[in-house]
Amino acid sequence: MHLQDLKVSMPYLELEEEFHDKTDISPLKNPFLISYSPDAAEILGVEIDDEGFLTKLTNGEVHLEGSRPFAMCYAGHQFGHFVPRLGDGRAINLGKSDSGWNLQLKGAGQTLYSRQGDGRAVLRSSIREYLMSEAMCGLHIATSRALALIGSDHDVPREHWEKGAIVLRMSTSWVRFGTFEYFYAKKQYDKLEVLADYVIGESYTHLKGKKDAYFLMFEELVDRTALLLAKWQGVGFNHGVMNTDNMSMAGLTIDYGPFAFLDDYDFNYTCNHTDTQGRYAFAQQPAVAQWNLSMLMHALSPLINVERMQKALEKYAELYQEYYMTFMRKKLGLLTEDEDDEATLRWLFGIMQQEQIDYTYFFRTISRYDGDKTALLALCELQDPLSEWLERYDQRLEKEERSIAERHKQMLATNPKYVLKNYMLQYAIDKANRGDFSGVNDMLTLARAPFDEHPEMESFAGISPKSVKNLKLSCSS
Ligand code: AMP
Ligand code: MG
Repeated sequence: MHLQDLKVSMPYLELEEEFHDKTDISPLKNPFLISYSPDAAEILGVEIDDEGFLTKLTNGEVHLEGSRPFAMCYAGHQFGHFVPRLGDGRAINLGKSDSGWNLQLKGAGQTLYSRQGDGRAVLRSSIREYLMSEAMCGLHIATSRALALIGSDHDVPREHWEKGAIVLRMSTSWVRFGTFEYFYAKKQYDKLEVLADYVIGESYTHLKGKKDAYFLMFEELVDRTALLLAKWQGVGFNHGVMNTDNMSMAGLTIDYGPFAFLDDYDFNYTCNHTDTQGRYAFAQQPAVAQWNLSMLMHALSPLINVERMQKALEKYAELYQEYYMTFMRKKLGLLTEDEDDEATLRWLFGIMQQEQIDYTYFFRTISRYDGDKTALLALCELQDPLSEWLERYDQRLEKEERSIAERHKQMLATNPKYVLKNYMLQYAIDKANRGDFSGVNDMLTLARAPFDEHPEMESFAGISPKSVKNLKLSCSS
């Protein structure tokens, strides 16, 4: 199907008016297409054969059949403090495709929920979100997606004047924990039920009509969130703003702000420079997600028995640990389970922290380990600790029955060669600021196939350059 022929429906607009606000799109001046994702187009079920149409659609100058743009209302706990009304301040929904994707423009102007914001998004943050959601998908992590990115001549005031951009993003769900919190705080409990039915119809269809559906939804969300966090930790992803309004009811990664992949392993790493307390630091994330689930539990308390929810939530830590260890064993090429595996892993992380070892590069390098320690030891200044650890690893590998070749093959398909580190995103952004968008498309190539060899981009597969590693990012976007 041509994109031009895509029809959308507006199921969220069928909910009562407190849930949303119909809004007009404010197009950017002189828009131009920077990039689009062929993978996102494929799952949406459309062919992009008219880039002019895609540009106009992303800029809100043409509409899909059936579309009636709107913003969604929600609340949320921001850095631990409840804000009773947030909402889509710079996101405008276009509707839902038959294939189940809710299309949304980020940066297309003000909405009822913009508060002091201008409803815009600047080029650098839009490039980051566009690339990163595709990269997370490439790493097999549940996420919203991005179909297209446009730039413009539109001036947007931030610390300096910058140019406005829009990402046409898509998700199977845009409902947040904070959407439930909004109605709970207003004591509109009937709306909680309406919303829960909507979420089940959208993201938990197998529970539809079940007697216990609301509880089962919560229980499954605990599970999905535990899995999501295990994957974030496993690939070394720091979200940066894990407020409850940025937590997905479908268990997806959404709302990419000042996120980052780890350069060197650092459990304290906090990508968001406004997060001075390190609330959302790398190692805090699994526990923060649990706290966020507990806020959701409160919001759902008029609908679901709290004790049952508490019991379900108590399982979170165990589920997380199970998913995490399964993932980490794969990263280490271990098929069997050994009771010492957790301790072995902690030991490794201690060394990585101390020696400031590049997280992605380490796991990619160990994916070819055959007993020769040279390449791994070269990553350390002080080699003895890693050398000792590798002896332990050698012993551990003896318990495995697979051939070395088989282990290598599996590890190379588990440990990415490329993750979009900040300096790589910055490379694409710097080029884009000079009017050259080839960096965006190069990074998209890596995002789509992070486990593959890309000889022409080998320079991005190494250790992050010292001057640009583990930097913090501004929230202003
Ligand atoms: P975030 O933490 O980026 O997800 O944003 C928190 C809230 O602020 C959301 O409700 C956003 O829609 C809103 N927001 C952020 N930046 C802007 C902006 N430039 N204009 C309007 N709303 C914004
Ligand atoms: Mg947000």
